[in-house]
Amino acid sequence: MKRFYIETFGCQMNVHDSEKVIGTLEQRGYVQVHTPEKADLVLYNTCSIRDKAEQKVFQRLSENRNAKGKVFGVLGCVAQQEGERIFERAPHVRLVVGSASYPRLGELLVQIEQGGDRVAGLSLDTEATFETPVTRRDNPYRAYITIIEGCDKDCAYCVVPYTRGRERSRRWESVLEEARTLAGMGYTEIQLLGQNVNSYRDPGDPSRTFAPLLEAVAQTPGVRRVRFTTSHPQDFGRDIVEVIDRNENVCNMVHLPVQSGSTRVLEAMQRQYTRDDYMRRIEWLKASPRDISLSTDIIVGFPGETEEDFEQTLRLLEEVEYDQVFSFKYSVRPNTPAEQMGNHIPEQEKSRRLAVLQEKQRGIQLRRNTAMIGRVLEVLVEGYNSGTGQWIGRTAQNRVLNFVAQPRVDGSVPAKEELYGRYLPVRVTRAGPNSLAGDCAIAV
Ligand code: SAM
Ligand code: SF4
Repeated sequence: MKRFYIETFGCQMNVHDSEKVIGTLEQRGYVQVHTPEKADLVLYNTCSIRDKAEQKVFQRLSENRNAKGKVFGVLGCVAQQEGERIFERAPHVRLVVGSASYPRLGELLVQIEQGGDRVAGLSLDTEATFETPVTRRDNPYRAYITIIEGCDKDCAYCVVPYTRGRERSRRWESVLEEARTLAGMGYTEIQLLGQNVNSYRDPGDPSRTFAPLLEAVAQTPGVRRVRFTTSHPQDFGRDIVEVIDRNENVCNMVHLPVQSGSTRVLEAMQRQYTRDDYMRRIEWLKASPRDISLSTDIIVGFPGETEEDFEQTLRLLEEVEYDQVFSFKYSVRPNTPAEQMGNHIPEQEKSRRLAVLQEKQRGIQLRRNTAMIGRVLEVLVEGYNSGTGQWIGRTAQNRVLNFVAQPRVDGSVPAKEELYGRYLPVRVTRAGPNSLAGDCAIAV
């Protein structure tokens, strides 16, 4: 028996890549174990978007450097970025594979099984997307589908174009086929994934873009919720809002990373839109009859960001009123144009700006969540917290809504896993900045 352990760092794309890697390994007769000690093959699927994420994997490798009789492999963005240097830095590593080489994973594993040392898959020159006959999904209700890989945008701070290669969309039919298969297997929620999902174009017919694909997935029988992430503001057209308006099961939420509220900084970041361009898209979304929840990513302390630029970002938060903000201190990344820029902001100042921004956003979220009190929202039940006696649900707008179920007529309460995967109406009774609490509005 060949046992493997995999640890995943980073974004949902990485989580889903790992699901496909696990499927590929299982097909080759490997069995997954949940500690590195029990494994013959130990894999780290890595992230290098910020320095901290990258350091974590080298820390893991150093912890394991004396482990005997195991094969260590580094996959994903750090693998691509550091390449064969990893073999020098961590000589116990025998396999290094960037995500653009995953379609060759089976072949690289054969080399390892035959005793190969320093086996590497690092070519970025590919048109192929990673499609596997078997994908191991652990969440029984929500399934990810990758529709586009790589990125052609070249933002000045970002490593993704170097680590994930050029943009390549999956075939339209192959995406729909996967959606139909998943719905047939009982998955009710589908999340379409890509660095920029809305740059999607069917390679067979480039007139088929993201909005019609989203609509076609939503119209797949059995699909109750469709989400998509991430959308790039430059390619965000009104047609996407129209698809959300027309299709109740397309979740009323959009993640639209702005990065900065200052046009000057956006230009330095090479984001290809101005603050006004971005706000125009927010207006389209706010004009929708569907109460679309908005979230974003923000980088503070980009080289040259002045106090006034930062103030503009704070004002943008107030204007847009996001329900969620993922905020980061700018992190210098190797070989990116921003690395060479002057006027880097001191670490302490970046930390200060991040704290100010997060405090402001906390207030906005508390205000917005408090306004939900009294409303009845549909949740997908995802878990149970035995400590608090609450079920854990997620609303269409991706809010966590913890709730209690009414006791049944005979006084009994539903068994622990009886409600998992069900869609239930819940009345909101309390709100915090990061979640809501309530009571189930029907007897279950
Ligand atoms: N493609 C998406 C977009 O452009 O909107 C974002 C994908 S990226 C993997 C996720 C987020 O990481 C970015 O939106 C950005 O906020 C953050 N990020 C990327 N590079 C960074 C860097 N060098 N330092 C800090 N944050 C960074
Ligand atoms: Fe990175 Fe920009 Fe591409 Fe997003 S659009 S992945 S931030 S280069």
